[in-house]
Amino acid sequence: MTAASLDHPARVVVVGTGPAGVRAAQALVQAGLRPVVIDEGRRDGGQIYRRQPEGFKRPYAKLYGSEAAKAQALHHDFDALRAQLDYRPDTLAWNLSEGELHVVREGEPQTLPFDALLVCSGATDRLMPVPGWQRAGCYSLGASQIALKAQACAIGARVVFLGSGPLLYLVASQYVQAGAQVAAVLDTAPAAKPWRAVARLFARPRLALRGLALIRGLRRAGVPVLQGVTPLRIDGDDSLGVQAVAVRDAQGAEQRFECDAVGLGWHLRAETQLADLARCEFAFEPVSRQWLPRIDVDGRSSTRGVYLAGDGVRILGADGAEAAGRLAALAALADLGHASGRALYDAESAVLRRTLAQMDRFREGLARAFPWPHAQAAALPDDAVVCRCEAVTAGELRRCVSEMDSREVNRAKAFSRVGMGRCQGRFCGHASAEIVAQACGIPVEEVGRLRTQAPVKPLMMNTREVAL
Ligand SMILES: Cc1cc2nc3c(=O)[nH]c(=O)nc-3n(C[C@H](O)[C@H](O)[C@H](O)COP(=O)(O)OP(=O)(O)OC[C@H]3O[C@@H](n4cnc5c(N)ncnc54)[C@H](O)[C@@H]3O)c2cc1C
Repeated sequence: MTAASLDHPARVVVVGTGPAGVRAAQALVQAGLRPVVIDEGRRDGGQIYRRQPEGFKRPYAKLYGSEAAKAQALHHDFDALRAQLDYRPDTLAWNLSEGELHVVREGEPQTLPFDALLVCSGATDRLMPVPGWQRAGCYSLGASQIALKAQACAIGARVVFLGSGPLLYLVASQYVQAGAQVAAVLDTAPAAKPWRAVARLFARPRLALRGLALIRGLRRAGVPVLQGVTPLRIDGDDSLGVQAVAVRDAQGAEQRFECDAVGLGWHLRAETQLADLARCEFAFEPVSRQWLPRIDVDGRSSTRGVYLAGDGVRILGADGAEAAGRLAALAALADLGHASGRALYDAESAVLRRTLAQMDRFREGLARAFPWPHAQAAALPDDAVVCRCEAVTAGELRRCVSEMDSREVNRAKAFSRVGMGRCQGRFCGHASAEIVAQACGIPVEEVGRLRTQAPVKPLMMNTREVAL
């Protein structure tokens, strides 16, 4: 579709006001458009540059640390754009049909027709079940950080962080700095990193060194940091919630850390549901063992008019999200036949692509240095709860394979209800696939991925009396 073929000004909708969405909106406004920009959050900023609630007055340096200047720049730029946008906060995109985005705000449904849709939906935690993780007091790393950033609260008085990836060390360090007691940081990734990981991590040397400094800082603060652990269980009971985390250390000995809260997370997973509902093609990525939407170098998906940018398609981090958001918006303008957008695209796309390629190298380094512990997920004991929403255990999933020949995750879902609850498989989907694949004795890519169903997240609908 080109501008010449449109009988109305181009209707462009941006989902998300994190770094990717803000930079996409900025590029569209620069080209003279007035895009609709929605976000389910009350305030802009997205995850990393999440704004504190009205009335909170913590300074930028305290809230965002080394990223304070970038946070301030993004907030300032978005504030300056506001009058030129049709900005709709508190608005959830819950479904998509051809050329229309379905949203809901304060219980009221609306349909937003679009000529181009930029999905900048960000990421959430990638979680692996641990026996006992259904107990009260277990949070994701992201939730632990949000509690601190948004509300200045810790998730407990004595916290264990378990998982892998940079966020593990970052959130633990933020807790230490905030004065919380961190009982241990337990990383499933081995301390020795493969050379292919190290080479790629040094695509962004400053960031790699900052990560090492976080680990050193935690150790200096007296926090036990164990690498190469195998999670065994989260101990506790129904009335008190979590009480301790037990792991097998790299030497094979069992270690137990008492606590009243646990933060879990294995890096991040892209929020790809809208891309799935838009019928974008996905491809399996072996290095991170997950299915991701296919995009070209500029962010075009396989579905005409749908562009994907930021952590919602590849976890490139906040700087990468800013570049990807701008590039995808310029690509959309060029595809719409927009003259000044085309000029910006021609002038900037090569540099933006180079930036993104460098960040993608770093992303691959992270995936190799902090691998998803798929063998641990596949080996979960039969009584471990995998799907917390529907209380489905690893044993039930294995029975779907042995008794009902479920060699595909959506079939296992139909028989067991795994992934049918509130989270719609966003947190149990990856582990479920590993369990089914291992039980079938086939590679994980052959069991497929849980298909997205609308609504992508629980939503509130106003109910009115209907006159009969
Ligand atoms: C929990 C968490 C904590 C993180 N902490 C750090 C950190 O401390 N340091 C760091 O360097 N990186 C951190 N990251 C990574 C960093 O946040 C991202 O790299 C960066 O924010 C990506 O920008 P983005 O614009 O792609 O997505 P985001 O910043 O995540 O923004 C996405 C936006 O889309 C909105 N959205 C999503 N789906 C919908 C929908 N269906 N309808 C309406 N709106 C929707 C969300 O509300 C959100 O505002 C964190 C990521 C997560 C998930």
